[in-house]
Amino acid sequence: MPRKSMAKIGRFLSIPVMAVFLLMCFVYYSTIFVFTEELVSLKSTLGMSNALAFSFSALMCFVSFVSSVVTDPGFVPATYVPEVEDGGFEDPELKKSSVNSRYCDKCATHKPPRAHHCRVCKRCVLRMDHHCTWINNCVGFSNYKKFIIFIFYSAISCSYSFVIFFTATLRKDWGLRWSPLKTFYITCGSITTALGATLVTLLVWHLYLLVHNMTTIEYHEGRRAKWLARKSGLSYRHPFDLGLCKNIILLLGPNVLTWPCPTAVYHAKDGTNFPTSHDN
Ligand SMILES: [Zn+2]
Ligand SMILES: [Zn+2]
Repeated sequence: MPRKSMAKIGRFLSIPVMAVFLLMCFVYYSTIFVFTEELVSLKSTLGMSNALAFSFSALMCFVSFVSSVVTDPGFVPATYVPEVEDGGFEDPELKKSSVNSRYCDKCATHKPPRAHHCRVCKRCVLRMDHHCTWINNCVGFSNYKKFIIFIFYSAISCSYSFVIFFTATLRKDWGLRWSPLKTFYITCGSITTALGATLVTLLVWHLYLLVHNMTTIEYHEGRRAKWLARKSGLSYRHPFDLGLCKNIILLLGPNVLTWPCPTAVYHAKDGTNFPTSHDN
């Protein structure tokens, strides 16, 4: 097997990735075979349609998760040569920022705009967002959409599970005695609530970044640039923010129907060149 494929499969051999798998299996099993069964019975039409809808969401969650893990986030091509060294920005802070091509001492090569060196991957990553322990991979140019869609389906699946779990719990006649079933329900309730709240918060955060065409690193860079601009009586705007519609099309693709599909990334170019609001 080629070394590249081995490295991709090797990413699954990590405790956090395996923990995500186990958590997915646990949430799937408990939602369908315990709570949906308890609430409406899987033999009924309502139970079956609920199980199918949840299974679809869980399957998409699984596919986008695997896809985020195995996809290379986008490494700088060996042939990359910067077109313009300083991007024409007069502000020294912008010259230093990821708007421009810079030199990576560790890789001993130029890195394109928005690329950053990842200390874990030990390489420069195109349009790097962050290194995610849960997918044991960097979130970069080539797997950003897959990662966002993974968060989207996980948040939906967890919220779905949360509603089914609480409806089943409230309808159940518990009595006054303590039982192992009560412990199981409390454990499931705690996991679903914590997971759902985390995922919905993460989804809202990444939707904010998406509509501004911003990475997590650029958000932090932008905060400093904003502060410096304010000190000089100027205003700062994220240079890659081209407006809501253009940003969404750039990141999710021009066809609305393919937005929820994690593997529909045909719209992505090479990841070394990005339009800025300064272009016009
Ligand atoms: Zn580097
Ligand atoms: Zn990394």
